[in-house]
Amino acid sequence: RTTHEETIHEDPVTTADGTAVEVAANVGQPAELEGAKARGADGIGLYRTEFLFLDREQAPDETEQYEAYTDALETFPDGRVVVRTLDIGGDKQIPYLNLPDEENPFLGERGIRRSLGPDADLFETQLRALFRAAADGDGQLSVMFPVVATPEELDAALETVEAVAETLEAEGVDYSIPELGVMIETPGAVFAAPELAERVEFLSIGTNDLTQYVMAAARENERVAELRDPRRPAVLRAIARTIEAAHENDAWVGMCGEMAGDPDLTELLVGLGLDELSMSAVTVPDVKATVRSIETETATEYASRALEAPTREHVIDRIQRNTDQ
Ligand code: PEP
Ligand code: MG
Repeated sequence: RTTHEETIHEDPVTTADGTAVEVAANVGQPAELEGAKARGADGIGLYRTEFLFLDREQAPDETEQYEAYTDALETFPDGRVVVRTLDIGGDKQIPYLNLPDEENPFLGERGIRRSLGPDADLFETQLRALFRAAADGDGQLSVMFPVVATPEELDAALETVEAVAETLEAEGVDYSIPELGVMIETPGAVFAAPELAERVEFLSIGTNDLTQYVMAAARENERVAELRDPRRPAVLRAIARTIEAAHENDAWVGMCGEMAGDPDLTELLVGLGLDELSMSAVTVPDVKATVRSIETETATEYASRALEAPTREHVIDRIQRNTDQ
């Protein structure tokens, strides 16, 4: 396989035999939106909204958030923009939110757990801003929830969605409920993937967190870096199981962890059946070029062989043999 780093494909791509694979960008700052577009991203597969809340004294109000989401939609009028609701806690801190001093923050109150608990007001404000942005003409907004571990959490989040919609309705404000999804980042979510997929339109696999939790190897700990490798059979099988559960429940499924941006893994990920890959904008051109060179049937066979590999070394060996072809 050759790499085509300099070629920018502005249009959506398919595999050589015509299977559509959405190639989107991960964005953590409004300034990155234009760069993502320039590199040919089909849309935004993960808009990390923490930037709105960082480096300030208090949370942004509804209007400020509404404007930020509208800007993202205007940058991709023909694509999908997947906004993740506030994901604070763990490695992500905000002083004015008074996060508890936990012994084990990665296993503590983070992501949706805070949105359903101490940050419920912020969650409602963010949903109001998002639903108003979704009603405006440009683009397609999708919203996903981070660090979900149970269907009950998703049900509670969906109840808030309904409550926010009812309030906007009663106020006579223009709104629309966007496409909704769940990030698959915990082993609990992998095992509950059928129940989660049943309730929403899409799943998005966050392999940065999923790998740390499946392997019990913290994200920032270099001592366990080798263990924390998404090419571990256990992680690959968790991914495969999630994809299967999504498709069986008529949900589309993407991946927005770092793994999705490695062109050496693109054929494996497409072979596993992912509908969307979202990554740092710099890797979009190379991944798009790689998708175009893939034959779906070959990729599917390769992926099922990789899933049978007993060790990480076997997985790496299969990937290397495949990319050397
Ligand atoms: C992930 O966990 O894989 C992910 C995409 O989210 P973040 O890196 O922001 O935690
Ligand atoms: Mg994460």
